[in-house]
Amino acid sequence: MATASPAADGGRGRPWEGGLVSWPPAPPLTLPWTWMGPSWGQHPGHWGFPALTEPSASPAGSLGIFEVRRVLDASGCSMLAPLQTGAARFSSYLLSRARKVLGSHLFSPCGVPEFCSISTRKLAAHGFGASMAAMVPFPPQRYHYFLVLDFEATCDKPQIHPQLLIGSSCLGSRTWFRHAREIIEFPILKLNGRTMEIESTFHMYVQPVVHPQLTPFCTELTGIIQAMVDGQPSLQQVLERVDEWMAKEGLLDPNVKSIFVTCGDWDLKVMLPGQCQYLGLPVADYFKQWINLKKAYSFAMGCWPKNGLLDMNKGLSLQHIGRPHSGIDDCKNIANIMKTLAYQGFIFKQTSKPF
Ligand code: AMP
Ligand code: MG
Repeated sequence: MATASPAADGGRGRPWEGGLVSWPPAPPLTLPWTWMGPSWGQHPGHWGFPALTEPSASPAGSLGIFEVRRVLDASGCSMLAPLQTGAARFSSYLLSRARKVLGSHLFSPCGVPEFCSISTRKLAAHGFGASMAAMVPFPPQRYHYFLVLDFEATCDKPQIHPQLLIGSSCLGSRTWFRHAREIIEFPILKLNGRTMEIESTFHMYVQPVVHPQLTPFCTELTGIIQAMVDGQPSLQQVLERVDEWMAKEGLLDPNVKSIFVTCGDWDLKVMLPGQCQYLGLPVADYFKQWINLKKAYSFAMGCWPKNGLLDMNKGLSLQHIGRPHSGIDDCKNIANIMKTLAYQGFIFKQTSKPF
């Protein structure tokens, strides 16, 4: 069991972003820390300090980005260093970050025998328990959980793309009604910020009421057929179910830090507040801050993913999961991209401004 200890830079940064979190959340929660086995990009030898060999594999290495090699410094001392090797795009930000992470955790001043104990002590100082030190190959995130969300909404080809309905000026107006988009798929993946594994899924379809009949265009785009939304709960009922799920998952506990993650700002800046305003429903506070994955990606990789998930998957050499514009599949792609960036040392921060 990992022990909670203050995070290395806890509390620093912008107040709404917070610092790196201690883990598990305090007061201690019963968390499933039995997960320790081989996982995505992880096998004995992957940055697992006691098992490092020469040259060692690493998750980043497996992406063709860098590998860790034992090198000799000027005085002949043996130490470990990350070397950029692959052709994959890897921003200077991530490389320097990886060097920093590896530097603080892996570089041994001299001599191999000391290596494990030094590493373990340094990791403990960074908020890792000893058992976690050998298992988690990337630095701690600022959140205990990431809540990956991707709405699908009613749409039609000749209508204005919902991304154009930005701002609140038209919300609740006849314009909004005429072009009303209604949420029809509401998926959330709960991603553990320590392992970046999916721990729980919320997934419901929603009955549209303004335009209850889905257009052929909408079905073709999203893969959602009429039978999948007919008889489903209303948005109000689904929001109540979300709240129950959040409570069940411990996400309403003030000691548990979580944040929504979306691909773009549309879901939580335009779609949900717009429809809630139209229906006279309150928007829960937890929906009022989020991470825009496109912004995070562009910060990490140094280029804007114009085509969203497709570009991000391509830039990270990832296979696209499932069907584009299926809400639940889009969420899985977001989670996979996040995991990949986290394994490369990227620390996610809130990108939305406080409401
Ligand atoms: P996405 O998250 O990119 O799958 O898109 C969310 C919603 O935006 C979809 O459910 C549609 O309502 C709308 N949308 C996305 N792409 C288009 C498009 N090319 N034309 C019209 N509406 C779209
Ligand atoms: Mg989608």
